[in-house]
Amino acid sequence: MGIGDLPPPSATPSQPRNRTKRSWTWEHFTNIPGNRENPQARCHHCGALCGCHSKKQGTAVLIVHLRGCQRYKMSMGEIKKMVIPQYSEKLVRDMLAEMIIEDEIPFTTVDKRGFRKFVKTIEPQFPLT
Ligand SMILES: [Zn+2]
Repeated sequence: MGIGDLPPPSATPSQPRNRTKRSWTWEHFTNIPGNRENPQARCHHCGALCGCHSKKQGTAVLIVHLRGCQRYKMSMGEIKKMVIPQYSEKLVRDMLAEMIIEDEIPFTTVDKRGFRKFVKTIEPQFPLT
């Protein structure tokens, strides 16, 4: 068994990728067929129409749009989605303490029946002791 017996490395023809003229922006836009004089593309994210005449505007307009498109940014994670805070007993306690101090509410308020009812309504999980 010599080196010459080794099978030739599997021939993987390195096909050059078909370089299309289409810009990456077309992943975010759909060309609206129809008006050849004034072609438009619709943003996948917000549905806005942008002029995309290959001679007049090219895809620059589309890129400019994406830069300003809130929904696109959101989808790219640039804008943090609103995080709905999970119920946290500590947070409720902290907020309660803060409210008492800030609004100078007497501490005995938390023992009042009306207040307890109120808390039970907005947060039934909160243990009022
Ligand atoms: Zn958009």
